[in-house]
Amino acid sequence: MVATGTTDYDAVVTDLADDLLTYIDRSPTAFHAVEETKRRLLAHDFVELDPRKGEDVSGGDRCFIVRGGTIIAFVVGTQDPTEHGIRMIGAHTDSPNLRVKPVALTRAGGAFRIGMETYGGVLQHTWLDRDLTLAGRVVIRADKGLETRLVNFARPLMRIPSLAIHLNRGVNKDGLKLNAQKHLAPMLSLETGGELDFRDVVADELEDVLSAQIVSWDLAAADAVPSVRSGLSREIIHAPRLDNLGSSHSAVKALLGALDPQPATRLIALYDHEECGSRSAQGAQSSFLQGVIERIVNSFSTNATSFYTCMANSFLVSADMAHAVHPNHVDRHEPKHRPVLGAGPVIKQNINQSYATNDETSARFSEWCRAADVVPQHFVTRTDLPCGTTIGPITAARLGVRAVDVGNPMLSMHSCRELCAAADVDKMVGAMRAFLTDPTHF
Ligand SMILES: [Zn+2]
Repeated sequence: MVATGTTDYDAVVTDLADDLLTYIDRSPTAFHAVEETKRRLLAHDFVELDPRKGEDVSGGDRCFIVRGGTIIAFVVGTQDPTEHGIRMIGAHTDSPNLRVKPVALTRAGGAFRIGMETYGGVLQHTWLDRDLTLAGRVVIRADKGLETRLVNFARPLMRIPSLAIHLNRGVNKDGLKLNAQKHLAPMLSLETGGELDFRDVVADELEDVLSAQIVSWDLAAADAVPSVRSGLSREIIHAPRLDNLGSSHSAVKALLGALDPQPATRLIALYDHEECGSRSAQGAQSSFLQGVIERIVNSFSTNATSFYTCMANSFLVSADMAHAVHPNHVDRHEPKHRPVLGAGPVIKQNINQSYATNDETSARFSEWCRAADVVPQHFVTRTDLPCGTTIGPITAARLGVRAVDVGNPMLSMHSCRELCAAADVDKMVGAMRAFLTDPTHF
């Protein structure tokens, strides 16, 4: 199935895949993914721009700007972006998960449970019987007003126990049926420990914060088990949030590998809220990216049509993980479009525009793959199955920019713990870097 053998895997499985594990483990939520991305950018002399100020940028500048769980980073080209365009990679920082309700604790059966909302298309049963931790953002009342703090318990803290088969005899035959309100509340503690205040739990984890200072939170359950390599040759990755930290990580690595001066501006936009439709102030439907592009363009030219000219010269690679063919469910794929793990990036196409790819943009991405010694795979969904979507069509429509939808193949998408191939990390980063550094004007 996979074209490369064990020896080849040894050659291609470099520390890029291990670095992905680190990126994921440091990013239990979109907020943490932004923080980890920031840390990497700052180490390469990027400067954070203040969204409340409109400073100009100039050729060679390395900048980023943050809005909640979204980060946009760019390296300004040496030439006017109106003429030389912006090469953009889009991805998302969020993943389906369980989020703590504003009144967090409930009691039942001698235990304190945490009431959870489901975020995005959660594959619910995969959250049962896992060691779960808590992470996210907390708003506290400080001396100078309200402040936000990130928190990550980073250890097994709670669990959603499944119901014993003896009490649910038909489960293997009839399938597991879960009610999201009743059955997805993790157990945090036993009542034998006495009264429990959720603010105390969070305050204990934050340095120098008292329970009474905690005003509100956006906290998520996350897999507490570190990401690992598996398979006979360590060629497989088991990790949470591969969709879409896998692509966010590739985008960051590609940008940091394309810092040398060149005419075109290079940009990555890693969005929150993709999993719930992108409609928020920091989602792909927002004006955030357009505003950043206008800031770059207006630093060079104040012509009223500059933005549109710039977009005509620009290109977007929308990167989101793709469905590899499942060895136990081969027939769920279109017979001639079955991407396999380890065989490289997938170009995703849908004639009804669920993906932004068209014939021209597919061909361009294929050429960048070729430049990186990678052969792309192709995906269309079965004609009798509906198709997923990405930030690709949203961004293409909003900006009027050419775009292609791509992604590395993976299994267990939207599970609490997903799976992909280590070799594909290198291949995607290589193709993205070829795009960002393409010496031609396209
Ligand atoms: Zn995704």
